[in-house]
Amino acid sequence: MTFASRRVFGVLALSVFAIAFAPSSASAVTVTADSAEDRSCIDGKRTDAAVGTQAVTVPGVSAVMARLSGAGGNWDLAVVDESGRVVAGSAYAAGDEVAQGFAIEPGKLHVQACRRSGSDSTAELEIETFELTEPAPRLQMVRVATPDADSAERLSALGFDLTEHGGAGFVDVVLHGPVEGALLNDEGYDFEVLVPDLASQSIADRSAERQMAARGNTSTLPSGRTDTYRELADYSEEMQKLAEDNPKLVKYFTLKNETYEGRPVEAIEVGPAVDRSDGRPTFLITGVHHAREWPSAESTIEFAYELIDGYNNGNKRTMRLLKRVRVVFVPIVNPDGFNLSRSAGAALGASGGRDAPAGDELANLVIEKEYHRKNCRFLQDTNMEGGSCNQEPDNGINHFGVDPNRNYGGFWGGPGAATGEEAPFFDTAADYRGPGPFSEPETQNIRELVSKRQVVTLITNHTFSNLVLRPPGLQAAGKPRDDKLLTRLGNAMAAENGYKSQRGFQLYDTSGTTEDWSYNATSGLGFTFEIGPDAFHPSYDVVVDEYRGNTDAAEGGGGNSAAYMKALKSSAKTKRHSLIRGKAPKGFFLTLKKRFKTPTSPVLNGAGEEGEVMLLPEKLKSKLEVGKRGTFAWHVNPSTRPLVDPTVKRLEARKGKPSDPVMFSGTPLPDAVPCADFDTEDPMCWNDHGFKVKAGEGIDNGSATVKISWPEPASDWDLKVFADSDGDGSSEGEKKIVGSSAQGTTTEESTTIARPGLKPGDYVARVVNFAATSPYDGRVSFGKTQASKIETGFEKYTLACRAKKSGRVLSRQKIQIDRGERISVDLTKTCAN
Ligand SMILES: [Zn+2]
Repeated sequence: MTFASRRVFGVLALSVFAIAFAPSSASAVTVTADSAEDRSCIDGKRTDAAVGTQAVTVPGVSAVMARLSGAGGNWDLAVVDESGRVVAGSAYAAGDEVAQGFAIEPGKLHVQACRRSGSDSTAELEIETFELTEPAPRLQMVRVATPDADSAERLSALGFDLTEHGGAGFVDVVLHGPVEGALLNDEGYDFEVLVPDLASQSIADRSAERQMAARGNTSTLPSGRTDTYRELADYSEEMQKLAEDNPKLVKYFTLKNETYEGRPVEAIEVGPAVDRSDGRPTFLITGVHHAREWPSAESTIEFAYELIDGYNNGNKRTMRLLKRVRVVFVPIVNPDGFNLSRSAGAALGASGGRDAPAGDELANLVIEKEYHRKNCRFLQDTNMEGGSCNQEPDNGINHFGVDPNRNYGGFWGGPGAATGEEAPFFDTAADYRGPGPFSEPETQNIRELVSKRQVVTLITNHTFSNLVLRPPGLQAAGKPRDDKLLTRLGNAMAAENGYKSQRGFQLYDTSGTTEDWSYNATSGLGFTFEIGPDAFHPSYDVVVDEYRGNTDAAEGGGGNSAAYMKALKSSAKTKRHSLIRGKAPKGFFLTLKKRFKTPTSPVLNGAGEEGEVMLLPEKLKSKLEVGKRGTFAWHVNPSTRPLVDPTVKRLEARKGKPSDPVMFSGTPLPDAVPCADFDTEDPMCWNDHGFKVKAGEGIDNGSATVKISWPEPASDWDLKVFADSDGDGSSEGEKKIVGSSAQGTTTEESTTIARPGLKPGDYVARVVNFAATSPYDGRVSFGKTQASKIETGFEKYTLACRAKKSGRVLSRQKIQIDRGERISVDLTKTCAN
């Protein structure tokens, strides 16, 4: 990317952004509801005495944002159009509500504030509407050729909107308009179109759902849901109802931080005597880090229904497991993004199932929003007080916001996330990591939740690609301490849903992901599910089939329902975590605490240069109340983090110096036609240069960097490095590629191979004539081993006993406990008042 085009993008983004700022109309009124009635607000239009109303007129397709505040008790909020469609809804447990959606016809909107409980009869209502006039370009799903790992990683570093679907030599990517297609080509990537118009596909999917619902299908989902995806307020209402209907079994709560749009993030916890502060381990299951991945929330809440119903109906296995494990559900980690995507999808899907030709006005106005991936960070960056993500401009490039699944602290800032500094996308890059580790309310929430409990298993649901991913997401993180156990559980779950079980980085490197933090900070096992074969939110029958395993891939397995059950069962196995048992005075509190620092990656800058590793202070602290019998059994994670465990074999520094560099050069072969194929089998299209990686006394070749350069950007050379198994200096017939580099218009290519991947022996650099016209110079340089700088050592928890009423610490002791270990402590004497 040249400087000139970088500027064009900056200007384009800014100018469109400025236009999109001003609301078409804004009003603030006090609404009155004379009585309270505990009844849904989001089912349809209401005008009864328990509702305060306000009308607002929109001139055409418009984004609507309504906020309710200032009332005690429980109020809900909805915006209904003239056809009776609920355009926006909000159903949180208290009086503050945020309802945002899209009106598709010109006319009057009925805004209703519903008083469900409490003595306040008035509340403050603010309504803003924005007419949408900036059409988005057509969105497409394309398959981009990535001949090697480097080219896939560069694609993500550039900030293209990568799906989690990739295979040998390709990654599927969402293209936000033809501008991005041209950019891909500029960067030297080829692609084929998979879905020519995502808007048409969405309309067809929603239409298929209506037809299936009309046929009266009986659902096999635990909730009985048949028709289409829940909207945000449906989750709020259902989670509260589950808790109300099952007071001893289900607890509803909200996480610590509100989002940029002012929403709480909701959770439920399931287990008999759910309020008891006992020593059961926790299984945490989450959905929707990424806004458009609707099925991830559906399967999360459906599993909650399955466990609750199973328990209530006396299912023996469910009862046994829930007595031993608490399950916490956070169906929607990123409600701002989800609501934007889901409400745009509802507006588009409500368009009567008509075709969406390229010029379809509604599709063009809302489709970008339906495919929003990240959170709504830009509201803070632009100081849009009380602003809304729906004001985001559709400018034909990626979206604003931070990728919550690149913002966790563990290995944050490494490869596989965008820094926000790189052209062409800057902070609109699809995988923008955010300004700092844990900078976002969404990731802070999960961090806090995980830090206050003993989460022995965590599943974070995403779509799509039929994958069960386990740590590490970053290849450089090395083999995890618990690799065997992670692999075993990952494979067992994959046997149910039929997905491919693999390490996160096997798709492409990612840094700052959920389980790379949670696993390395807490030792709790963590997995990412990529649900479904080929779409972010396909028609709803796919959700049902994936949940129940009615897919070809599942091959008779029980689907995600059974996979989650395997994770629950695994959480109940004491030998897969650790157990502290003991005696202590009944009713006293115990706390288990640990402080440490989580290392980030060496933080990359926009030029791809490595900076310092940041060390993030962390505190894990969980709590237990000693039971009636004066005994306790506390299921906990091992006390030593995987990263610092001294029993794990690590790369150790070596004495010695790197070998001297090896120089080479070459020219296009006389018979070479323009080869234009990185994977060509024609030996006329490449030159081979053999080199040796030496080992022995006084030598430390920790890495080898092969670099070629030439003067003319128009001349295109590429690079592949092979292990030279027969040592003949020729790459012909060699199978094992250890490094490669293939960029577009540049004057150099380089690739680095490092230990442990780099073994002593013979190698050959194949310099591929892609479209070369000039000679090149090459160099193999060697570097020292980069030993882990993290100090290793066993870590301990501090176990404290606290007095019943005052909470005063009466005793403290250090506890070191390994995976599978059980230890006993007697606190009856030390912990007496
Ligand atoms: Zn995702």
